[in-house]
Amino acid sequence: MRTLDNKVAIVTGGSRGIGRAIALELAKNGAAVAVNYVSNTDAANSLVKEIEGFGGSAFASQADVSDSSQAKVLVEETISRFGKVDILVNNAGVTRDKTFRRLGEDDWKKVIDVNLNSVFNTTSAVLPGMLEQKYGRIISISSIIGQAGGFGQTNYAASKAGIIGFTKSLALETARSNITVNAICPGFIETDMVADVPAEVLEQIVSKVPVRRLGQATEIARAVYFLVADGNYITGQQLNVNGGLYM
Ligand code: NAP
Repeated sequence: MRTLDNKVAIVTGGSRGIGRAIALELAKNGAAVAVNYVSNTDAANSLVKEIEGFGGSAFASQADVSDSSQAKVLVEETISRFGKVDILVNNAGVTRDKTFRRLGEDDWKKVIDVNLNSVFNTTSAVLPGMLEQKYGRIISISSIIGQAGGFGQTNYAASKAGIIGFTKSLALETARSNITVNAICPGFIETDMVADVPAEVLEQIVSKVPVRRLGQATEIARAVYFLVADGNYITGQQLNVNGGLYM
């Protein structure tokens, strides 16, 4: 018997990077997983194949989670395939980095929609079922940037700080129903998102990280697993997985 046997998880943005590692970690521990993605069908399908290859259950679900009706369909599809949702990982995210003077309304709205409004959309769709079954684990991937700010990242920082406030407030409202709500704040993790950062800027960042390296997606995935499997008394928290960069 694995720890997450009979549990059902949705991982938004599960096709690549951190979300992919989270989906794999949950599936390896027995959860059936809905792998959400927005455009990269091949990546999502290949992850589903990998999960099925070790005897796990998963399906790929295309949905732009910044759109409330698509987020609702993602949740309905998961319930129709697997019967319920126990674990929601709000991981989908984008950047549109620009200094504030150059930041257009589109860049602002896009990042708030995908990173923050999506969290409202998916959580609204899963919460009634979680309240009814008196069990839920909601984990949203915030960022060190939501805590410390980032140059050229007013939109991204606002979206990630918004997740932290959302998490604390919802945790208060759902604790009595055995639903925990937490955020994970990664530092700089080696994924496609960070691949856009110029090498010299990355070198500077790494030189400031006390452990002197970038984080790995699997290290965020292990933190998600910890909150799901051993976090019964942990709610409303920000778990920092950042190599000591922000304390
Ligand atoms: P990534 O490699 O760029 O992957 C982003 C994922 O989000 C992809 O699966 C993408 O799907 C999906 N996605 C984007 N827009 C979406 C939408 N509208 N609806 C549904 N899915 C959508 O990013 P990552 O580095 O793994 O980051 C994952 C999360 O961690 C993000 O929230 C990010 O802000 C956060 N984070 C990352 C870092 C870091 O250093 N990497 C640090 C702190 C926090 P497609 O494959 O279909 O494009």
